[in-house]
This record gives sequence, C-alpha cells and structure tokens, in this order.
Amino acid sequence: MAKLSLRDLNLAEALVLLRADFNVPLDSGVITDDNRLQATLPTLRFLHDHGARTVICSHLGRPKGKPDARCSLRPVAERLEHLLERNVGFCPETVGPRAEEMSAKLERGGFLLVENLRFQLGEEANDAGFARQLAALAELYVDDAFGAAHRAHASNSAVTRFFPQAAAGFLLQRELEYLGRIRDAREHPFLVLLGGAKASDKLAIVSSLAQRADQLLIGGGMAYTFLRAQGREIGASLVEPDRIPEVRALLERARPGQIVLPVDHVLDDGRVVETIPPGGKAFDIGPATRELFARHVASARILFWNGPMGVFEKPPFDAGTLAVARAVAECPGVTVAGGGDSVAALRASGLEGKLDHISTGGGASLEFLAGDPLPGVEALTDKI
Ligand code: ADP
Ligand code: MG
Repeated sequence: MAKLSLRDLNLAEALVLLRADFNVPLDSGVITDDNRLQATLPTLRFLHDHGARTVICSHLGRPKGKPDARCSLRPVAERLEHLLERNVGFCPETVGPRAEEMSAKLERGGFLLVENLRFQLGEEANDAGFARQLAALAELYVDDAFGAAHRAHASNSAVTRFFPQAAAGFLLQRELEYLGRIRDAREHPFLVLLGGAKASDKLAIVSSLAQRADQLLIGGGMAYTFLRAQGREIGASLVEPDRIPEVRALLERARPGQIVLPVDHVLDDGRVVETIPPGGKAFDIGPATRELFARHVASARILFWNGPMGVFEKPPFDAGTLAVARAVAECPGVTVAGGGDSVAALRASGLEGKLDHISTGGGASLEFLAGDPLPGVEALTDKI
C-alpha cells in the first residue's frame, strides 16, 4: 500500500514534526561524516519553501535512555545551519514545556532541533506516553529516517497515532523506491554482491535474495564460512562454525553457478594463494577473484552491493574492495549500495557519485531486502 508523501500535506504555517536520521559519527563532538544530514536536505528545503514550521527529532548513538553529553545533537544543529544557510534553533530538551514553547514560537519556514530522542527511555520502548509528548510539539508528521525504519520506536511508530497525517519524506521515499526495485527483482540479470565480516548478519538476506537474484557474489570475511561449508581449507580465516549447516543447506538449494565464491585470496602476510594453507588468514579477495567479480558486475542490469571484500581499513587489503567499487561504478545497470563500511569504502575512493543510489540505512536496507516489513513505514498514513 502506498503511503502519504510530503507533497500530499498542506504545509503552509503548519507545525511539522520531522523524524530524521541524524545518527552521525562524532569524534570528540565533531561530526566526521555529515552524509545523513546532506541526504535529508531536500526534505528540509521543501518544508522551508512551503512555509512549514519544522521541529526535527533524531537519535544519536546509544545513550540508553538518559542524557549523555557525548551524544548531544547540538553539533548537528550547528552543521545543519551551515548546510541550510539558515538559522536552526536547538532545544536542550527532547519533549516537555520548554520544547513545546520553542516549537510554538517557530516562524514560517523556521527550524528547531530537539535533543536526542534516546535520552528518554520511552523512545526505544515505543512508549505511547512519550510518543504523545513528542506529538504535542506539532500538528503533522513526516518521517525521513530510513536508517531507523526497521525498529518500532516511539518517534517512528507509536507517535503516528497522535497525528491526523503521517507522511514519508523524500529520502525515505527514494530509499523505498530504489531498494524496492532491488527487492522486487523485475530486471535481469539481477546481481547481489555481499561481503563484510559476519555471515550470520547476512544469511537471512542471502537466503531471501537467492530466490530472486541471478547471481550472488560473496566475498569478505563471510565468504570463508561458505568455503568451509563446501569442505574447502580456509586455514585460520574468519569463520562461524555454528552457521555451517545453514550455509551448506543454502548452497545445496542454490542453482549451479548462482553463488559465486572467491577463487583466490590475499593472506595477512601479503601472499596471493588459490588454496589457503593451514594457519593462513585470508584478508582480501585475490586478483583472479576481482576479475571474475568485475566480469559478472559488468553484465548486471540491476545490482545491490553490501559489505567490503576484505579488511579494507588496512591497506593493502583494501585492493579487492576498491576493484569491486570501480567495477560497480562502471556498471551500466542500476547500481545500489548499502552498509556503513562498503559506503565508506566507496566514498574514500571518490566513486559514490557514480552509483544510482547509496542507502543511508545498513540494517534497514538488509531487513527490507530480506522481505521484512519496516515498522517505520507501516506506521505511516495510507494513501487513498
Ligand atoms: P557493512 O558495514 O558494509 O555492512 P560489515 O559491517 O558487515 O560491512 O563488515 C565490515 C567489516 O568486515 C570490516 O571491518 C572488515 O575489516 C571486515 N572484513 C572484511 N573482510 C574480512 C576478512 N577477510 N577477514 C576479516 N574481516 C573482514
Ligand atoms: Mg559495518
């Protein structure tokens, strides 16, 4: 069912509660990556241009239900002012009389950011009382927090009951549109490229996408649980032994050639091998695997990538991930990437602009692609 969009609302002079995902990385109070802020700018600008008075709320970090100065959103308000080139008020409280007073005073086109939602226990508990307090700040609701949509929390689930209209913002819509194209898999060849540390994080999505994807290319640490399940020698490489039966069943269900695994490896001592010696630790996919993966990537009509191909934080073990990033950037099909580390690698290589869509939600994108309904989306008003 389609959901109400930002464009369906009557915004002039309206007080709007915007749930954003401003969960940005901070280093001693300095924002080291403001991509999630940038991604929300189209929604913020639209609200401004249409005369809304916008109260913004977000979580940041894991303060566990009580105030923690290290997780304050104040630096976010400052960065937003800079990006929007206009004043963004900050309320050091999340809800309550002060936040209500500051919201009521907002002028047409104005912005107010309230303090971290997770300073309140009610947020993660999806508590109706806290949701009611949040809703008291505004008249209409817009959700743009795709990165939080896989969790039913007060600010994206319970809160919607207290508004006559709860709509999706542009970022949330864009995420659902691109990831929806991946999930529905109408274009072929449809290719999925997975990497990262743990197979257990991604088995649900592998198993779901194996029913629709023409090929799944698996690299990174998770590949070694797959290779082990095939009875291959993996030395001392990363493995999750308790997942082997599940992976073996998955490999047996797959069509021949559907799941593609690394054919060579770079060990932690820099050696390139086809067969990992006892005690050897694979830290990256080898050159033959890079070529093999790049060939498959080149022929994809639509592609999703999550997870680095090696221990990319430690050069030269970033070479496999960079090779794959270049192949994805050159792929003429529709290209979508998600996941914190794979996106960081894309950014570091300056290739992010070559993809059609970069998801702002790691966990949310995987859960959505695995076919799970997202509570944050379900809670929005249906379009009739
Ligand atoms: P993403 O954030 O893109 O979803 P993950 O968080 O699942 O990715 O995995 C990223 C981590 O996987 C990185 O820290 C990287 O070092 C690790 N990793 C990748 N390949 C290997 C490997 N061969 N051995 C050990 N760790 C690996
Ligand atoms: Mg990660």
